[in-house]
Amino acid sequence: MKGTAKSDLFRELPAVDELLHAPEVARLAAETGTAAVTDAARAVLARLRQEIASGLLDGPALQIALRGLRGAIEEQLRQALRYSLRPVINATGVILHTNLGRAPLAEAALAHVRETAGYYSNLEFEIEAGVRGKRDVHVERLFQRLLADGETRAEFSAGHRPAGQPGAPPPQHAKSGRAGDPGAVPTRTQVSTIVVNNNAAAVLLALNTLAEGGEVIVSRGELVEIGGSFRIPDVMAKSGAILREVGTTNRTRIADYEKAIHERTRLLLRVHRSNFEITGFTEHASGAELVELARKRGLPLMEDLGSGALVDLESLGVSGEPSVLDSLRAGVDIVTYSGDKLLGGPQAGLISGRADLVGRMRANSLFRALRVDKLTYAALEATLLAYIKRDHDAIPVLKMMRLTRDKIGTRAEALAGQVQSTKMKAEVSDGESVIGGGAAPSAVLPTRLVALSCEGLSADELAAHLRASDPPIIARVEEGRVLLDLRTVLREQDEMIAVALDRIAR
Ligand SMILES: *Cc1c(COP(=O)(O)O)cnc(C)c1O
Repeated sequence: MKGTAKSDLFRELPAVDELLHAPEVARLAAETGTAAVTDAARAVLARLRQEIASGLLDGPALQIALRGLRGAIEEQLRQALRYSLRPVINATGVILHTNLGRAPLAEAALAHVRETAGYYSNLEFEIEAGVRGKRDVHVERLFQRLLADGETRAEFSAGHRPAGQPGAPPPQHAKSGRAGDPGAVPTRTQVSTIVVNNNAAAVLLALNTLAEGGEVIVSRGELVEIGGSFRIPDVMAKSGAILREVGTTNRTRIADYEKAIHERTRLLLRVHRSNFEITGFTEHASGAELVELARKRGLPLMEDLGSGALVDLESLGVSGEPSVLDSLRAGVDIVTYSGDKLLGGPQAGLISGRADLVGRMRANSLFRALRVDKLTYAALEATLLAYIKRDHDAIPVLKMMRLTRDKIGTRAEALAGQVQSTKMKAEVSDGESVIGGGAAPSAVLPTRLVALSCEGLSADELAAHLRASDPPIIARVEEGRVLLDLRTVLREQDEMIAVALDRIAR
């Protein structure tokens, strides 16, 4: 009996052709194109068939569904023509969330990307001379100022400052600052920087250039894997360099490095333990010891910093995250770091250090394969200019890091206060934000959290409802509670969250 009823229901469904000729659907096809509307109509009919087969739709329910066909096709079209890559609201409190795209860009970076993308540019053209130029020049001058200028301190600005003067002349350095003088600041002519696609590419290019066919000495305590399958031993193998492991997981002394050096050694490598810590019975060679050893044996020392801050984070209570300038000042020859971690710019890999070594990397044909496009240069140039102007709050991730617990608390209270429904409860409590992105693994920033619960919904269900909002809201679920950390929520998004909560509660 039931089977017959189902086959009757199937017969009620219109054919795709028939549907496309119905006036209101035909109008839709005229607006958006027949192909897209046909696909959408097919998808909607397939769903109805599925619902009939599974017994979800009976006769009366099917009649209702058929009356809403046009709306269903429109909705299907909207979904199909929507971008797959969409903005989301990051309420996790993880500032550099790799899955959520790491650093949001500064306004100036967006504007500069826009103008560079929409027009021709002097990407590789010297305007005055009218001859072919190099794409590196656009950021090289800024990196030179930020990394080699003895006057530029890496501290945070006290707050907003008026635009500085990026063109101001550099102070003169009395001496060259290298060669047996580990504590000296390299002068501006000596530090060079090139840009590649990401830090993984930077490490690959640096290792290939400096050590192909030779050995690279690394501590066993630093053979790290960074999220997204970046493993030092694998990158090493691809670069054509041979990994020479020394020491143990928890203890590596400078003597271990020294003993491993022989005629095939090309490089000493130090890798920042970005996403984990080794505690307890530990020992590792200090930066100064490594610099001294490298100098003594005439080997370059490279450091994969990973995050690579351009400002000192100590003032925020974040320790153990050396800045790029710190490393170069300490005498490290080559530093590799990401553009979209603590620097707060676009995805990129930066290689800064001794001009002769960087020059060899620039001449490597691999560099051509790993180079970045004009949009990356535009975003990077604008981000670096914000550093030069000491306008750190213009860089979203730096601003987020500097938000105080009290400021976040005020916003959290305001949001919680907007939850009016009796079904939903919002409480504000103390918590911690993390930097993420493989930076300062143990560093946390004090914050205030909005803890949510909703009658009739589990924490996971409530989190799923938040993700189904438009834009999707990504929250933390901890110990059966849904937590929102407004540190990583842009100010103008607070209201969107309030609206979404109101909708979910109803
Ligand atoms: C993040 C990280 C990388 C990878 O950088 P990407 O820019 O994601 O390619 C490599 N090394 C270290 C130490 C890192 O922290």
